[in-house]
Amino acid sequence: MRLLIKNGHLVDPAAPENTGMSVLIEDGRVSAWLRHDDPDPDGAEILDASGLVVAPGFIDMHVHLREPGQEHKETIASGCAAAVAGGWASVCPMPNTSPVNDNAAITRYMIEQAEHAGLANVFPIGAITKSSDGSELAEMGEMKAAGAVAVSDDGRPVPNAGIMRRAMQYARDFDLPVIDHCEDKSLSSGGVMHEGRVSLLLGLKGMPALAEEIDAVRDILLAKETGARIHIAHVSTKGAIEAIRRAKNESINVTCEVAPHHFTLTDRSVEGYDTNTKMAPPLRSEEHLEAILEGLRDGTIDAIATDHAPHHADEKALEYDRAPFGITGLETAVGLALTELVGKGIIDLARLVELCSVNPAKIFKLKDRGTLKPGSIADITILDPDLEWTFNAADSRSKSRNTPFDGRQFTGAVVAAIVGGRAVYRR
Ligand SMILES: [Zn+2]
Repeated sequence: MRLLIKNGHLVDPAAPENTGMSVLIEDGRVSAWLRHDDPDPDGAEILDASGLVVAPGFIDMHVHLREPGQEHKETIASGCAAAVAGGWASVCPMPNTSPVNDNAAITRYMIEQAEHAGLANVFPIGAITKSSDGSELAEMGEMKAAGAVAVSDDGRPVPNAGIMRRAMQYARDFDLPVIDHCEDKSLSSGGVMHEGRVSLLLGLKGMPALAEEIDAVRDILLAKETGARIHIAHVSTKGAIEAIRRAKNESINVTCEVAPHHFTLTDRSVEGYDTNTKMAPPLRSEEHLEAILEGLRDGTIDAIATDHAPHHADEKALEYDRAPFGITGLETAVGLALTELVGKGIIDLARLVELCSVNPAKIFKLKDRGTLKPGSIADITILDPDLEWTFNAADSRSKSRNTPFDGRQFTGAVVAAIVGGRAVYRR
């Protein structure tokens, strides 16, 4: 099977800038780049990408797909459907399923379910400790052999520095990055939003920025000492970004991601007590948002990841204090990045592709992905940077609707996703 994506604007670190290139796909891989005036290859199906951006398939480093165990919120199939509609060719589910993904059998099960759905690629993240309870290390080697690309205890970060040190040594020996949800729960426990002026006014218990910053600094020091690779998840505070910037200058192996809600919303959004503004880390104040934009601009931030966290409407319908943390994000992330970052001149399209594809592929060492160089796997995200659209949560492919972006208008949309050479989503 041959597919020619014709007349698009190819954005790839290996592609010559401002030169039109058509991408030829054969047997699931990119076989050649052709100039727009080259003759069409025999028998190729043509996908006309005039006026569109053609990029290596986006990779979401941080999602929660809820299967096994909480299929009423999301399944691997429904999560993958939402992923490709949002432009993500690959997603990396966190291990906080039920049971926890702390062994090869569950890792394998997730990959099999994804293959069965035949939409996005799924690269699971295994647990750091058994049941993510922070005590005994999980079998990282076996999970890696089964297909896990990293380890994390995400929302239940390892509180004990001695265990985290051993985890980093162990992960380093298996060449697995440790994904770090930085939150010292002795500081944040009981909190439901960012601690500051707004939490005081609303009478809600706050989670101080310090809770993230202390843990980030601790784990950067551990990474320096152990030589492990760490990746700080959903960085949300000025202090953590500054610590990461310093660590990078010292050549410590640290990378980080930001979630779209943290570069678009502040704690002022909590004022209506909408539980779809409740997540961990919480929406921060303006100075933190400014620090995130600077980190996106200057390269300190390596990736954009959704932290897609579906919850059933009944659970989110509780009062603010009692509702679970987390929002969906797979279908709005790219629209938000195009509208709020590219559209406002904070980053350009090449940097967007770096944040959503090139860097995630490097951090997780996903061979032949994050690029469309001839020979690479034909995972492709096609964007229309000018298309105006409105997101209606009711139309979401996710099983859940817990988003603060229902009804939001965007400039810039995903128009197609190709995974392994197959068009799995067309707008
Ligand atoms: Zn997290």
